[in-house]
Amino acid sequence: MELTVKKAKLWMEALNEKIQKHKEYLSELDQAIGDGDHGVNMARGFQEVMNKLSDADYATPSDLLKDVAMVLMSKVGGASGPLYGTAFLKMSMATKNKEKLTEEDLTLAVEEAIKGLEQRGKAQLKDKTMLDVWIPVHHYMKQNSPIDWGNLEATAKGAMEATKELLALKGRAAYLKERSVGHIDPGSVSSYYLFQTLAETMREGD
Ligand code: ADP
Ligand code: MG
Repeated sequence: MELTVKKAKLWMEALNEKIQKHKEYLSELDQAIGDGDHGVNMARGFQEVMNKLSDADYATPSDLLKDVAMVLMSKVGGASGPLYGTAFLKMSMATKNKEKLTEEDLTLAVEEAIKGLEQRGKAQLKDKTMLDVWIPVHHYMKQNSPIDWGNLEATAKGAMEATKELLALKGRAAYLKERSVGHIDPGSVSSYYLFQTLAETMREGD
């Protein structure tokens, strides 16, 4: 199964729906260990992404992902805007000029996104950030060809849930030190939605 422009757009629509639906939950999670704006930030950003995509045509998924990146960077406040913006921009750059993205292309795109996130946010695995979802998902993609998208979704979910027990070393939650333990990282939940909706889109067929 390949990711076409049409599918990339369906992915973003599904992700936007997921974020709008769980906006309050994302903000509640951020209230516990941050400043309570993650749901609002993501909901605003992805609404803007929808506005942008609705009146545009794209030749490649890369072009579409680039617009997603630009919107997120310019419209989303907080740490998550520039971080997600960077991730989408790196995915766009990694897949330049390709009309359809194979699973291998997507694996490389996720790998590049992780490098961008690491460069931008200076976080590592187990620092209790969105990387704690991205890195295990990438690991799964690298180890499994063809990708079982149900298993990929389960991997993302398990990784997201596992952030609960971690002590935050990056982002606002790091100020809480031990008190950050026992709460799921909000950015890991939005990243779980990102991979969950990608998996749904890839499983649906053409
Ligand atoms: P802010 O923390 O500025 O209020 P958000 O609430 O929108 O921004 O996003 C918080 C999320 O961003 C965290 O839950 C975490 O997953 C992610 N995050 C924060 N700092 C970093 C970082 N340095 N590297 C990777 N992800 C980070
Ligand atoms: Mg916040």
